[in-house]
Amino acid sequence: MEKQFLCGVCNQPEKQCKCIKYCALCQSDYGLRLTEDGQFYCNDCREACDYKTQDTA
Ligand SMILES: [Zn+2]
Ligand SMILES: [Zn+2]
Repeated sequence: MEKQFLCGVCNQPEKQCKCIKYCALCQSDYGLRLTEDGQFYCNDCREACDYKTQDTA
């Protein structure tokens, strides 16, 4: 059974999350995706920190 990544604020999967989102590191809103720790990160920060999204984990 695949582990579901859940938003740390609303506890919903990425698709259902309605939170106001921004990157947890740089506050950007570009290319945000949920990662395993329940926070959203922008494209650049995910690449820099090697964070995985649900579909790449
Ligand atoms: Zn949420
Ligand atoms: Zn960022």
